[in-house]
Amino acid sequence: MIAQQIIEKKRDGHELSSDELTRFMDGYMSGVVTEYQMSSFLMAVVFRGLGPSELGCLVECMIHSGQTLDPEGDKTPRVDKHSTGGVGDKVSLVLAPLAAELGLVVPMMSGRGLGHTGGTLDKLEAIPGFRTDLTLVEFSDVLRTNGCAMIGQTEEIAPLDKRLYALRSVTATVSSIPLIAASIMSKKLSESLSGLVLDVKVGRGGFLPQEDDAEALARTMVDIGAEYDVATVAVLTGMDNPLGRTIGNALEVREAVDCLSGAGPSDLREVVIELAAEMAVVGGVAGAVPEARLLAGRRLDDGRAMERFERMVRSQGGDESVLHAPDRMGVAPETATVTADRDGFLSGFDPRILGHAVVELGGGRTALGQNIDARVGFELHVAAGSPISTGQPVGTVHAADADGMAVGVARLLAAAEVTPEPPPPAPVIRDRIA
Ligand code: URA
Repeated sequence: MIAQQIIEKKRDGHELSSDELTRFMDGYMSGVVTEYQMSSFLMAVVFRGLGPSELGCLVECMIHSGQTLDPEGDKTPRVDKHSTGGVGDKVSLVLAPLAAELGLVVPMMSGRGLGHTGGTLDKLEAIPGFRTDLTLVEFSDVLRTNGCAMIGQTEEIAPLDKRLYALRSVTATVSSIPLIAASIMSKKLSESLSGLVLDVKVGRGGFLPQEDDAEALARTMVDIGAEYDVATVAVLTGMDNPLGRTIGNALEVREAVDCLSGAGPSDLREVVIELAAEMAVVGGVAGAVPEARLLAGRRLDDGRAMERFERMVRSQGGDESVLHAPDRMGVAPETATVTADRDGFLSGFDPRILGHAVVELGGGRTALGQNIDARVGFELHVAAGSPISTGQPVGTVHAADADGMAVGVARLLAAAEVTPEPPPPAPVIRDRIA
């Protein structure tokens, strides 16, 4: 195989045979295809797409690059959720213990920050000691005793996706329906699930801002799930503004704990409850979404989901006491609050500006394998759509130093949109595709 011929073929819009695509992917895993050749190939896919048989072949290559989890004769339904990636999206931290509390086994395998979006693993690692790198044996133990466990993709699970994910994050090759669909579905299909719920983000903060593209992505993933006999539902949720009121790893853990304690912002709670209800239905532990929503709300309010989260944190080596003393996750040395300079409506916060800003502040990566600072980020004091008056606090920047603070303040001012009229209402749950 000559790698550049394959890249050229894709670049010029031709369909690759399964043999060509498989050899290219195998070549990447064995080191014959280099990182720069794969980067170039991925960019060609961003522009040219993949046909249905190429997509099916890529999913197979990703699954077969590793192992699949063994459900060990477990009779409890195994259901997971995956998000296409958003800003301020701390849903998984709340949802995994909540869905376990509803009677499901939740083997959640999550990712790190990707492009301008945050990653569940980076948030969990803000909790001192929390191990996202459990071996598959340890993962199964936590699942057996606790009903939910949250880890990163191990070397054993879809390692081809793991490498491509990291490469795409730093080469601007995330925004592609087939690449996102193959990445998400290969990981999830390796978990031996009975059901899967996908949170497909729609709006300017998602990787596919246009509603049509988000819908096409949702349908593509639901179809892949059906081919593998996994009951799959996609919920389209709004990402025109950050989800909740915090962006940045430790700040988002605090907000997830608020939500697990029956409080926290209403948009976060709404998304969590909707996804939990869908998970309960695809897993067969609830008959219908409305009744499952009520039960999910009760489990947030009565503290049971929180207790399960604490147990999971403890079993994965984390110091659960920080959940009640969040400053112990670390506090950024510099904080400053930005106020409104006029009256009007805070019609929104541009999530892309704030997502990229967290990376600039050191809370996300600009190169493979970089360390990040969990303490930095933004707290938003006003919900999008609310009236605002001159001098009212808009948001607080948490930065590691004075340079970071200057950047953070400039980005927060650029992201906050004040208009004379209120914006049209934007529901957070947009659509459902099954
Ligand atoms: N999440 C993933 O796991 N992969 C993507 O490509 C995008 C979001």
